[in-house]
Amino acid sequence: MVEEVLAHSDYIDKYTRELVMSERLERGLQTLRAQMDTKVKSFFSSCVHCGICAEACLFYTETNDPRYTPIYKTEPMRKVWQEEYTFWGKFGKKLGLTKSLTEADLANWEELVYDGCSMCSRCSMVCPVGIDIAYIIRKVKEALAASEYSPEGLVAATKRAVEIGSPMGVKLVALQAQIKHVEADTGLSIPMDVEGADYLALLSSMEIINFPEYIEALARIFKHAGVSWTLCSEAFEATNSGLQIGNSVVAAELVERVVAGAYKLKVKYVISPECGHAFSAIRWDGPNFIGRAYDFKVIHILELLEELRNSGRLKTSGKETERLTFHDPCQIVRRGGVEAQPRQLLKSVAENFVEMTDHGRMNWCCGGGGGVSANERAEGLRLKAFNRKKSQLDELNVDTIVTACANCRLVMEEGLEENEMDIPIVGLTEVIAEHLVED
Ligand code: SF4
Ligand code: SF4
Repeated sequence: MVEEVLAHSDYIDKYTRELVMSERLERGLQTLRAQMDTKVKSFFSSCVHCGICAEACLFYTETNDPRYTPIYKTEPMRKVWQEEYTFWGKFGKKLGLTKSLTEADLANWEELVYDGCSMCSRCSMVCPVGIDIAYIIRKVKEALAASEYSPEGLVAATKRAVEIGSPMGVKLVALQAQIKHVEADTGLSIPMDVEGADYLALLSSMEIINFPEYIEALARIFKHAGVSWTLCSEAFEATNSGLQIGNSVVAAELVERVVAGAYKLKVKYVISPECGHAFSAIRWDGPNFIGRAYDFKVIHILELLEELRNSGRLKTSGKETERLTFHDPCQIVRRGGVEAQPRQLLKSVAENFVEMTDHGRMNWCCGGGGGVSANERAEGLRLKAFNRKKSQLDELNVDTIVTACANCRLVMEEGLEENEMDIPIVGLTEVIAEHLVED
């Protein structure tokens, strides 16, 4: 809005322009100061500038552009830390020797942070002094969002999430239409708003629109295993655009909607679907966003499936014979800790499962996490970053890729198409549903 006024009005004189611009800088600065916790301060004072994190980041390795090195993406926050929280920084400021954060810095870092970081956290794994770089980048995003330096696509998705309830604008009526199709295909009924069910299943918009086979797989597996479950008409969306854009207030609001739905239906568990950042948002960040613990537990669908399999409630038969691999969604495996379950599940239904190099916690991102895929401007860079995944796949020569994130799936489908690689991608929950023992 401010940008539009600035771009199109001839009536704003230089003084007014500078005043409006400095307001944006001020908001960014205030947010960075508010985000400057003990962890961030100790991280910056520990960095030994070794550059090891660079080689862990696909946006750097695939472009060789030093601006995409992980630690460089934290520069706006580092500048504020140095100038306002260190002795030499304060001293230098008094002498006019430091380079303060500017409006131009915020404008420049918008592209570096939103387009050139998928929040995959691979850099955080390799830092020899244990700096969680992605944690700091997330805070830089807060400042950029507060000062209105966020990409259009993400701003629009966040607006839809708040106003409509879904970043893709998916309304309840669209979900109901998909449910009707699934019910017609399977002969099963999909429970909605069942008070007292044990589990409340969340869905991502991408699953509803692009991969309704996930809903079908849930219905079939839960019927088979005798799981008491429901969807909630007021809280079916798992995606959290607030986390992606870096707006904790929006993130908290979206978490609160899920919490309200879970409390209303008195469920014991909320199931996070095959969506990476949704798991981070509801399982790990959610209680921090809303400032209190939940009265229910959050479980990822793969954790639940493995629990059901271990307890003998999920019985499968037959095995896939083709050569397949698993793409680890960063937020589920690296940041989420669900690493063994997908492998155990896959091995139970596949006899020719092969791992990528750098799999599990050190797997490479698809390139579209952290809101990058919702940011049209980043498309060219994202496809470049996909070359890392392409190299991993080229080594393997697999028939099928299995994953557990609708966003990874869409991003990889696009990357494969761009590279004329004809490899189908399927969701793990669907693979398991295909092998259920008939009751
Ligand atoms: S979080 Fe991932 S994409 Fe972002 S800087 Fe680190 S390695 Fe690169
Ligand atoms: S790996 Fe860690 S210590 Fe080395 S430059 Fe990156 S953040 Fe700094």
